[in-house]
Amino acid sequence: MSLFSAVEMAPRDPILGLNEQFAADTNPHKVNLGVGVYYDDNGKLPLLECVKKAEADMMKAPSARGYLPIDGIAAYDNAVKALVFGADSEPVKSGRVATIQALGGTGGLKVGADFLKKLSPSAKVLISDPSWENHRALFAQAGFEVGSYAYYDAAKRGIDFDGMLAALQGAAAGTIVVLHACCHNPTGYDLTPAQWDQVVEVVKARQLTPFLDMAYQGFGFGIAEDGAVIGKFVAAGLTFFVSTSFSKSFSLYGERVGALSVLCESKEEAARVLSQLKIMIRTNYSNPPTHGGAVVAAVLGNPELRALWEQELGEMRVRIKAMRQKLVDGLKAAGVKQDMGFITSQIGMFSYSGLTKDQMVRLRNEFGVYGTDTGRMCVAALNSKNIEHVCASIAKVV
Ligand code: PMP
Repeated sequence: MSLFSAVEMAPRDPILGLNEQFAADTNPHKVNLGVGVYYDDNGKLPLLECVKKAEADMMKAPSARGYLPIDGIAAYDNAVKALVFGADSEPVKSGRVATIQALGGTGGLKVGADFLKKLSPSAKVLISDPSWENHRALFAQAGFEVGSYAYYDAAKRGIDFDGMLAALQGAAAGTIVVLHACCHNPTGYDLTPAQWDQVVEVVKARQLTPFLDMAYQGFGFGIAEDGAVIGKFVAAGLTFFVSTSFSKSFSLYGERVGALSVLCESKEEAARVLSQLKIMIRTNYSNPPTHGGAVVAAVLGNPELRALWEQELGEMRVRIKAMRQKLVDGLKAAGVKQDMGFITSQIGMFSYSGLTKDQMVRLRNEFGVYGTDTGRMCVAALNSKNIEHVCASIAKVV
């Protein structure tokens, strides 16, 4: 009898499982709208020019790869703080933000979750309904009971804001509330600035602990515009968590570049929090890898490369918006009777299409168009060559 004889086969990851099915599909017209990855108009994963240049500069004077500090590259952490809170913001100037370089946005969430579990072992976690599929599993794995707050209203094709507020109002003090700072995954529906004000008010009144997940800064309206949500929580005098991911905004998925920032009440408090975050890191993976963080720090720290990055990120943002419009127009031209205009009111890389599971399965099996069973499609994977096939296929299943 083996030690592992009772180990059960875990279910396949729903999204990565879809990828495997896509890879095995022989349909020459197949289109993968399943994963959250930005592809350019040629259907290629871009290597940003700013990244290429930073890497070329680095290769001019190649350096040995020693261990990084536990919390990562100092210049990287400072660049993250500036990006998330604003370089001249009070929290950054007063030194009350504790930031660590993390293994992607996921790593930032996990370090934060582990720290929170030690800090408030009996707190509950609330995530949006629906949410990025890893939120629930990640916080549950950290030992939390995970519930949800109302978010998507299918009938309204938008946000059930009253339901969301009611859930937050009913949450016990100390509840950890995971909020998508911008470009909500999977629905594509974001709160308006006025709705954010109300959320901030309730979070403050109910003494909830906000954990803002910022995986798409710059994909909504712009870097500063998307960061404005953070400013609202700062202005309310709250302390909170922010996870950052550069996977999409730098197209550096495999480098695992992200961060966790914790806004504290004072510089002295931030130093204590940082010391605890470092224990979480030290006992998990000791310290982060060098390359991705060094590239991002080099780009963000060089005015020329930074401008190039903003330009390239802007191009990605604009192309996604254009594809949303093309999708709406293409569906109409393909004979879809219902008004699909809601797709252009969604923000970021995803669209909740409103298609049923049966329709999504047919799209996959009959037309090679892959989205998730929930009807989520990655509009950032549409391009001028595949859009017609996607529209024609959707028209056949709706
Ligand atoms: N949060 C959300 C909402 C996401 O969509 C993602 C990535 N799909 C992440 C976190 C994780 O980002 P990363 O790949 O950098 O770990």
